[in-house]
Amino acid sequence: MPEKLHYGFTTTILHNDRRKVIEHGSLHKPVHTSVAFGYNDARQLASVFQGKEPGFRYGRQGNPTVSALEDKISKMEDGVASLCFGTGMAAIGALFQALLRAGDQVVSSAFLFGNTNSLWQTVAGQGVDVAFVDATDVANVAAAITPATRMVFVETIANPRTQVADLVRIGELCRERGILYVVDNTMTTPWLFRPKTVGAGIVINSLTKSIGGHGMALGGSLTDTGLFDWSAYPNIAPNFRKQPASQQGMAQLRAKALRDFGASLSPDAAHQIAVGAETLALRMERTCANALALAQMLEADDRVAAVHYPGLASHPQHDLTRKLFRASGSLFSFELKDGINCFDYLNRLTVGIPASNLGDTRTLVIPVAHTIFFEMGAERRASMGIAESLIRVSVGIEETADLLADFGAALDV
Ligand SMILES: *Cc1c(COP(=O)(O)O)cnc(C)c1O
Repeated sequence: MPEKLHYGFTTTILHNDRRKVIEHGSLHKPVHTSVAFGYNDARQLASVFQGKEPGFRYGRQGNPTVSALEDKISKMEDGVASLCFGTGMAAIGALFQALLRAGDQVVSSAFLFGNTNSLWQTVAGQGVDVAFVDATDVANVAAAITPATRMVFVETIANPRTQVADLVRIGELCRERGILYVVDNTMTTPWLFRPKTVGAGIVINSLTKSIGGHGMALGGSLTDTGLFDWSAYPNIAPNFRKQPASQQGMAQLRAKALRDFGASLSPDAAHQIAVGAETLALRMERTCANALALAQMLEADDRVAAVHYPGLASHPQHDLTRKLFRASGSLFSFELKDGINCFDYLNRLTVGIPASNLGDTRTLVIPVAHTIFFEMGAERRASMGIAESLIRVSVGIEETADLLADFGAALDV
């Protein structure tokens, strides 16, 4: 079936599989569980191995079901190519494994998903210097750049305090300096925001979160937006320099990170994520509306000390959020006033579930300092603006009235 160029986001995802031939006219790409791919002509096997013709070699570095999902993610992010990994962390780790060497430096936002923060500590022990900066102001990023800087890494809306990076100006800075701009788009998803529009060269998504949406499969992805000039990137091995410049980054990532480190996405997980992705836009509309209603209700209550949500006028990057994102996201965090214990509050909820995940269809709540940010210690937490009583809420698709009633009633001690 011929492809028109300007279908909407959801139409594109729903119909993407059938743009290529599928046996029996199946509407979904089937789950191909085979690890090996047989060729009738041994010469063809060799030419697939040598990259002279397309084809699959071995399940670790590519699979038809995973490839169908990679194609959809490229469409969602308006990218030229995507790679899927077994988790979002594996996708982020791939950047380090494939693109950084001892002596290199990374400028990273200090407001980060906890495990990414921990990964950067590991990297620091292996000879790559990481400078943590307050990325809500491009001036801090500019001040940290050195001749050894290979990439600038930011999240769109930081988890859990919801700081929004100075996305446009950091993009301009990276373009001027020829530095790879890496944006973790997990919290906004390609439905709310495409990092390509602010100059990102690589976009990360944890597929575990809103893209899958059901909390039943782990996965992660990297998308090359086509904006970065790989011919200028110093760490491309001679072998990958033989490819056209536009493909060098992804070729090296696929071989060095996916093939050699083996953090591959399983075909079953790829299928589950692809099914979830079909309703991404519908779910985001509902969760963002729910999040805004809940955040507004809590902010108006004098038993609540603070609410952090970019959709509130009180948020420091509210204007930027309105300018860049279709809505303000499905996650917010808040602090209770002294006198209400955060554990007791969470135990009084009947809809919100104490659990560590986000982007699920169900509303999930977590006391941040005591769980996901416990390991880093009080000092680093304070520097990231994380109060000891901070509660993170990943808002689901329940009816708004049920959520408002639940979170409101739990304030009554
Ligand atoms: C969850 C998350 C990740 C890691 O994804 P996993 O699939 O859990 O490994 C990375 N970045 C952000 C912003 C996340 O929320």
